[in-house]
Amino acid sequence: MHVPQRQTRIADLLRRLAAAPPQVLLLEGGDAAEREALGLFWAALLNCAGPEAPCGACRSCVQVRDRVHPDLVLFDGGQDKIKIEDVRELRPLLGQAPRGDGTRVVIFHEAQELTPQAANALLKSLEEPSRSTVFALLAPQREWLLPTLVSRSWTLTLAWPGEPGADPALGEWLDALMEFWRTGRGWFRRTGVKGAVDKHLAMALVLALQREVVHTLRGQPQGPVAQGLLKLTPGRLKRLDLALAHAQDALSLPTPVNPALVLDWLATHVHKALRAPA
Ligand SMILES: [Zn+2]
Repeated sequence: MHVPQRQTRIADLLRRLAAAPPQVLLLEGGDAAEREALGLFWAALLNCAGPEAPCGACRSCVQVRDRVHPDLVLFDGGQDKIKIEDVRELRPLLGQAPRGDGTRVVIFHEAQELTPQAANALLKSLEEPSRSTVFALLAPQREWLLPTLVSRSWTLTLAWPGEPGADPALGEWLDALMEFWRTGRGWFRRTGVKGAVDKHLAMALVLALQREVVHTLRGQPQGPVAQGLLKLTPGRLKRLDLALAHAQDALSLPTPVNPALVLDWLATHVHKALRAPA
């Protein structure tokens, strides 16, 4: 069962949790592929028949890996909104024992795509705990989910991608963006260089900023741009968070977008927002 190198700490925590799995596990942070990999790791862990779970080789592990395990239910908000009908269809299943010897695992990948009605229906299902079924919510950050769902969850935060300290180039781009937001200068000559911005860099930049905004909103500012963020009112921080979410969406689309244009949009949009009345 493949776990990204950067997330082995979370895999170890999940191994320990497996002895008494929480009814709802929330995995935030990291990137979408890492969250999905760890969600499947969790499902394999709770269903593996091998000596050292998840072995990756037994029938259960292979079926989880191929997403065809009879006790794995996977909703993918990355494909489409997760609707109330989807959650309702679960109900009869929850009354039944799992088909195998393990635990049924219901995964909501990109759980921020649950419609409000679907999220409320899910909350209702959680009111009748079943020992044979557990849920896993996978989302970029807990703030994107219904607070009542989050409060019922056991939350683990994956290592965020693009730790600026680990990547000097990323640190420079972050500085340039903050400088532009302060002064309105210097940004476009960076993004205007052909090939200077690829999708990977743009996403790393957006995620690094998201991470710092989240920490600042939680009252634990850290990282190189935290000092700048601290000067923003909570309303402006929220607006910045929203703009980052839009940028992340744009970069995650299956259709190709120009990553430099996404960053330019983010830079100008936030630059304007910071000047609008708080
Ligand atoms: Zn196995």
